[in-house]
Amino acid sequence: MLQPLSKSEVHQLMSLLDPEQREFIEKYSKQSKKSKWIEAIARRKGIVITEETAYEEIEPLIDDWVLVDVLDSGFGNRDYRCECGRALRYQYRVLHKREEKVYGYGVSCFEHHTNLAPNLIKDILKGFHSVDLERDEILIKYFQGDFWNLKPFLHIETIPYEILEQDRLDLPLTDNQRIKVLRLKKVYEQEQLLERVLSKMDSYQKEVFQALGSTDQHEIIQKLSNDKENTFTELPSGFIDKEVILFYSAGLPLLERHYERIREYRWEQYKVKRRSIIDDGNQSSWASSGGSTLKTGRMVVPSRPIAPPAKIDYQTIIDRHLETLKSVRSNEDKLSEGLMRDWKTIEEQIRGLKAGKEMDYSSFKLNLTNICYALHIALDEFL
Ligand SMILES: [Zn+2]
Repeated sequence: MLQPLSKSEVHQLMSLLDPEQREFIEKYSKQSKKSKWIEAIARRKGIVITEETAYEEIEPLIDDWVLVDVLDSGFGNRDYRCECGRALRYQYRVLHKREEKVYGYGVSCFEHHTNLAPNLIKDILKGFHSVDLERDEILIKYFQGDFWNLKPFLHIETIPYEILEQDRLDLPLTDNQRIKVLRLKKVYEQEQLLERVLSKMDSYQKEVFQALGSTDQHEIIQKLSNDKENTFTELPSGFIDKEVILFYSAGLPLLERHYERIREYRWEQYKVKRRSIIDDGNQSSWASSGGSTLKTGRMVVPSRPIAPPAKIDYQTIIDRHLETLKSVRSNEDKLSEGLMRDWKTIEEQIRGLKAGKEMDYSSFKLNLTNICYALHIALDEFL
């Protein structure tokens, strides 16, 4: 166990400080010891205390006695007295809560009067010891001129008042306090980034985002905050993956695992295509294989050859998708903002087609599929 400074060393270093600094250190030590005491008792009682628990909440749970301080006359000295009159090196200062009176005891009278278990007292003393070490660290750092600039961190609202006050009084922060500030900075920056990203999302994107696990959320935040990565890949035609389509239609960047699935799909598609060229070379057309499904690897891909998309006309769309379109129309009030946009696009596309314009059939199918998933409408055979 690290030895705290001796009484005279503390006295010597304290004399370098101005009264306000001294008062801060004394008050802070006392306060910290009190919380160590409360922590130790709460632990025994099975009450969980975190950094955020205000100790006003816990104090009523503590019984009659509160250990306020332990005074030490230093090796070989007996400067203090017990209430019973015995000369002491260590005096335990305890407050009797109901009487609101502080008593000074030696260890045996202390145990006798307060009825506290010896191992609890040991636990508390360990806490006090760490508070003393912290105080010593501040004094030594002050003496050595080991200061740390807190200015770049002052915008972080979560830095505790004690740390700000300690810095304001030109008292150096301990190593633990510095680590704590750096930790708070990291958390703060993450929160800021999240806020920035969320503020740019529409309600549909937020809905998708908030349903994700924290790892996925983290990946999206990184991608959205790095504009360069935020480019959208076109999905290969015929690629159906509920989650990818959801992300795609929401305008969220795809995750790495989505790209992985797309790459896999493209690879399978390539293999099918190559196979069809070989088969054509062997005079056995795809039509004669009866439209069966070809199993390649883990994925099942349709056996239709990948041909350049045929021009689609209005009548074909109606023949293929009329029932689906009708089901969507009768449920369109249930669509989210983002999907409503897609639905408007579909309607526009159909109108355009009727007026003789061309249409991007694969984006039509993608949007319609996604809407069907959201509305729990069965996909027609052409989707
Ligand atoms: Zn005594």
